[in-house]
Amino acid sequence: MTKTILVLGAGTGGIITAHELVKGLSKTERKNVKVVLFEKEEKNVFAPSLLWLMVGLRKSSQVFRPTSKLAKENIELVQGTIEQVDPSTKTVRVNGKEYTGDYLVISLGAEQVTEHNLDKSGFDFYTLAGAEGFYEKLKTFKGGKIVVLVPSLPFKCPAAPYEASLLIQDFINKNGLGSKTEISLYTPESGPMGVAGKEISGQVRMTVESKGIRYYPEHQLTAVKDSVLEFQNDKSIPFDLLAYTPKHQCPTVIKTTSLAGNSGWVEVKRNTMETTFLDVYAIGDITSIPLEMKRPLPKAGVFAHYQAEVVAHNILRKISGNEPNKKFDGYGQCFLEIGAGQAGYAGGNFYNSPLPDVKMKKPGMLWHWTKVWFEKYWFYKYF
Ligand SMILES: Cc1cc2nc3c(=O)[nH]c(=O)nc-3n(C[C@H](O)[C@H](O)[C@H](O)COP(=O)(O)OP(=O)(O)OC[C@H]3O[C@@H](n4cnc5c(N)ncnc54)[C@H](O)[C@@H]3O)c2cc1C
Repeated sequence: MTKTILVLGAGTGGIITAHELVKGLSKTERKNVKVVLFEKEEKNVFAPSLLWLMVGLRKSSQVFRPTSKLAKENIELVQGTIEQVDPSTKTVRVNGKEYTGDYLVISLGAEQVTEHNLDKSGFDFYTLAGAEGFYEKLKTFKGGKIVVLVPSLPFKCPAAPYEASLLIQDFINKNGLGSKTEISLYTPESGPMGVAGKEISGQVRMTVESKGIRYYPEHQLTAVKDSVLEFQNDKSIPFDLLAYTPKHQCPTVIKTTSLAGNSGWVEVKRNTMETTFLDVYAIGDITSIPLEMKRPLPKAGVFAHYQAEVVAHNILRKISGNEPNKKFDGYGQCFLEIGAGQAGYAGGNFYNSPLPDVKMKKPGMLWHWTKVWFEKYWFYKYF
């Protein structure tokens, strides 16, 4: 009997899910199983490379590939915006057409929106246009105040604003503007990458501050007027160049369904990524997984990736009449670009009890080149 798996969103989680599903099909299953992958964007961006794009270490054309290249044998690609999702019937509407599957994998990520009209005064470095626009200004920058801003929580890739400030600092130093430039990072967080533990948070803060970057945690933005940021603690901070993270929210198409829980995100069983609907799974940034420390699992590609492998494996087991037997165990790693061709690396078990058990390795060139290698590998393998 034919089985159809609908994979919603072709970002990190969706690409891995579709790929793993097809890879695991037997010869007979290849004739009977179809994966339908839905994606609204024509340019498929490798998000970690946006950090290099914003400081001129990549050109725009180097950090994305056409989404159309994701169509493969057994993977039907549907390009368009998903307008409606009905998890009870596993039906999805795109461009007015309905698709019904036997399994649904929701990997629509976090919807990124602008708050406080920040786009009028700065650059959202979480998008291709924003990272590119930031570099256009940076390359002619003659000195002044640069601010990296986190206006709200949560945001994906907890390391990204820290990496951004370190890479900007490196650019400024290389261009002889160090004495004329002040770089600051403002965030509502109490410290960097808090879920990874006090030790790593302290190490990252020390790395940032040792490079001369001014770090201002517990600063909640309330407004932006002209080129001045206003914070809840009554501070007003002027800037000459601004890079900011967008507000992250559950995609509207899902928020309006009963899939969204009290957290505002999709809540799932943390080892299997099952939702409350049979054969409907959610993975990656769209989910909220509470940890024992009362904070959610960070939103990061590495988790979307591993969760996708688990879900694809378990769906294939079900299709072949076997019990699902793979679990997402909470392990994850990330690189932290610190400039000058160096990076740190942190990894461990985020499901560890009572606190995540994450360790950081000494920064060096090896981790930077591993990250570069992964970028090349990603494009080579999936596009
Ligand atoms: C600057 C930056 C650096 C980062 N660096 C790292 C890193 O070093 N390591 C790491 O682990 N993570 C990193 N991340 C985070 C990582 O990119 C995300 O956590 C990851 O992409 C999440 O995967 P996902 O599949 O859940 O969502 P996404 O990759 O965001 O994919 C969701 C997809 O769904 C599509 N979609 C959404 N709504 C619709 C709709 N209605 N119809 C059709 N399609 C839709 C979107 O266009 C998107 O392609 C970084 C992110 C940024 C911005």
